[in-house]
Amino acid sequence: MTPPLPALLDQIHTEAQALYGKGRVADYIPALGEVPPRQFGMAVALVSGESHTVGDAQVPFSLQSITKLFTFVIALKLMGEGLWQRVGREPSGAAFNSIVQLETENGIPRNPFINAGALVITDILTSRYAHLDYALLGALRRLADEPNLHWNPRVAKSERDTAHRNMAMAYFMKSHGNFQNAPELVLDNYCRQCATEMNCQQLAQATLFLANGGRDLAMDGQPDELFLGADDTRRVNALLLTCGAYDAAGDFAYRIGLPVKTGVGGGIVAVVPGVGTVAVWSPELDAKGNSVLGAFALERLVALTGWGHTTL
Ligand code: GLU
Repeated sequence: MTPPLPALLDQIHTEAQALYGKGRVADYIPALGEVPPRQFGMAVALVSGESHTVGDAQVPFSLQSITKLFTFVIALKLMGEGLWQRVGREPSGAAFNSIVQLETENGIPRNPFINAGALVITDILTSRYAHLDYALLGALRRLADEPNLHWNPRVAKSERDTAHRNMAMAYFMKSHGNFQNAPELVLDNYCRQCATEMNCQQLAQATLFLANGGRDLAMDGQPDELFLGADDTRRVNALLLTCGAYDAAGDFAYRIGLPVKTGVGGGIVAVVPGVGTVAVWSPELDAKGNSVLGAFALERLVALTGWGHTTL
């Protein structure tokens, strides 16, 4: 018989700590390089309303690319299928910040989760919202049932001061007519977006709609609210499975087999459709920019629970 979840999380926490030192904290954004590396938190939120945490699950961390999941969902709700005129939906097989495919594919990024694709999504939302940071925070506060979510101005400035490569991609896409706003303005919004902070417990809660057919689980005994249609929810999960871990998406699908989104802050969120969500955070990254302990913890959790084994 499978031990109860709290015991499994304790076991995984203990096992994961053997991997400290096997990765490196991202430092191409200088403020991220200051985060103490030996931290590990994990939270599981179930569609039944139950939740469990272990380790540093209450410590806020920089969401970075995990925000791309939420901005994509907001853009999909706004634009529907028209979105696919601006961005593709194929795995890239290239690094998260790769510029090379933009040239061969006429300024249309491969998918919404690599940097180029996320910049296009932020461009779309910049045209729509006067204050994109508040639109994103508003959605996250609602989904996480947490009014006190913010972005970190130091991290945003640190990324903005060094965002030369992302700026180059924005200008390149503009030269192809695939960018509506001034790249400088979109980069300001993008860096604030990426600097959004949450802890594991909040992140697991905020993504629960993806495990729940698009319904935002109300915490106060009220009926669930539809946040995203069931078909779109299925499509978002499919894209997370195929594109959510940069050029390691195939490896993640093989090892974990769940829709995931990773970020260079060391966070990973995974969706178990019909069951719940898992958020894990540990800042040391592998060569592809994914959390070493985070990937290990998810791999162990699916092995120990059998989650996802029947959904593929
Ligand atoms: N803000 C980061 C960047 O644009 C996000 C990258 C990530 O988390 O993968 O480089």
